Amino acid sequence: MTTATSPHAFWLAGRRATGDSTLDVTSPWDGRHVGTVSVPTDDQVEEAVAAAAGVAESFAATPAHVRAAALDHVTARLVERTEEIAQLISAENGKPMKWARGEVGRCVSVFRWAAEEARRFNGGEAQRLDSDAGGTGRLAYTRRFPYGPVLGIAPFNFPLNLCAHKVAPAIAVGTPIILKPAPATPLSGLLLGELLAETELPAGSWSVLTVPNDRMPALVQDERLPIISFTGSDTVGWAIRDSVPRKRVTLELGGNGAAVVLGDWSSEADLDHAAQRIATFSNYQAGQSCISVQRVIADASVHDRLVPKVVAAVEALNCGDPADDTTDVGPLVSEDAARRVESWVSEAVSRGATLLTGGKREGAAFQPTVLQDVPQDTQLGCEEVFGPVMSFVKVNGEEEAFAAVNDSKFGLQAGLFTHDIQAAFRAHRALEVGGVVVGDVPSYRADQMPYGGVKASGVGREGVRFAMEDYTYERVMVLTGI
Ligand code: NAD
Repeated sequence: MTTATSPHAFWLAGRRATGDSTLDVTSPWDGRHVGTVSVPTDDQVEEAVAAAAGVAESFAATPAHVRAAALDHVTARLVERTEEIAQLISAENGKPMKWARGEVGRCVSVFRWAAEEARRFNGGEAQRLDSDAGGTGRLAYTRRFPYGPVLGIAPFNFPLNLCAHKVAPAIAVGTPIILKPAPATPLSGLLLGELLAETELPAGSWSVLTVPNDRMPALVQDERLPIISFTGSDTVGWAIRDSVPRKRVTLELGGNGAAVVLGDWSSEADLDHAAQRIATFSNYQAGQSCISVQRVIADASVHDRLVPKVVAAVEALNCGDPADDTTDVGPLVSEDAARRVESWVSEAVSRGATLLTGGKREGAAFQPTVLQDVPQDTQLGCEEVFGPVMSFVKVNGEEEAFAAVNDSKFGLQAGLFTHDIQAAFRAHRALEVGGVVVGDVPSYRADQMPYGGVKASGVGREGVRFAMEDYTYERVMVLTGI
């Protein structure tokens, strides 16, 4: 129980605990104090890791129905507590309530899928080996086993659902997990702990630890945690992977998502629809989504009609207090983040880009912004902006459009507005990304589908079943004389 004076406990091997220091959480919208969170000591982190390692074997042997029941419980409680949880997400992250409710809804899907997958997951198959003479009388039987406890590291932008993507698949396969939420938004991850604590999951099978970044390298190096599932920035992610070459590391990193509008997407209704989707999904969560629209690559035949429609749709967005139900765009996660976006826009403009709308900052809020002619070698031209900013790129034909998408160090998802199914298949073959969304922006993600990037955007896939496969390996048993 947290009182006005006591900090929020973290979760050590399934029970509440407090350490000897704290971390404050403030609202990015108005700077108000949202909560104080206790930080574990080194000894407490050691206790959690030892508990996870100690329970790994027995947890893997827990019947699927027991793990599925725990996942069902969390699903039901998320549904019951949606409004309150959405308010928490909105308060600590600055996310408008309508998107915060959507995040809780997605988290419900993650746990529901995990419960279903837990019941059917095995991955086993029987293979006859007698197709070669040497295998006569032999049969191979395979089954998936967990590698061992997972270290799940989550970012601030979906503070609940990206914790869920680490935790739910771990429970579904029966492997312990140490979850580390982001320092700006630890309360949502700790709340997930509250729901897990209501289940019969064994002590030690899960912890939620608010470990500060400067103490993370020791945890990353710990050999008792053979799997790291990381979602966050490319700089931190790749450095983690390089520091532990023998571990299995999944990286869900950044992107500079492109929405491509081909020449056949040309009626007024087509362009109105694309403009609406692009404006919304460049700016939802103030652009702080790894698959938000950062680049609009439009065929020259539709470009000049699309630009004013997008600008009008962007200017119609309602910016303001995230607690207000009508708000479309809230603040960024901090004033520092908004200042960085401001400086990137200024750099692009000083290097010749044209500002079509937006560009102003007030505290942590940055106006939804549209530019064109952004030089490729500016920060905005080649890095992930992670803010409410998009740039138009005019191209001639499909080949140029696909080349423009691929002209990036990132490769997470791309959106493709076309009616031409053949063009969709050509894009699917040509685009260097983890996913192509046809008929929409790149920002669509369903939580059960394989999700992840190529190039600097990461390695490995999430999406409940795909994470379950990542956490486990196939172990074969060869039977002789049958
Ligand atoms: P971040 O890299 O700053 O932090 C991510 C997590 O890593 C946090 O929990 C942080 O505390 C932790 N961390 C920081 N330093 C660490 C270290 N040395 N060792 C171990 N852990 C460390 O990212 P962020 O700012 O929280 O999130 C934004 C980024 O996340 C963006 O780049 C965004 O594109 C990316 N993201 C990717 C996906 C995806 O699925 N591909 C989804 C959401 C966000």
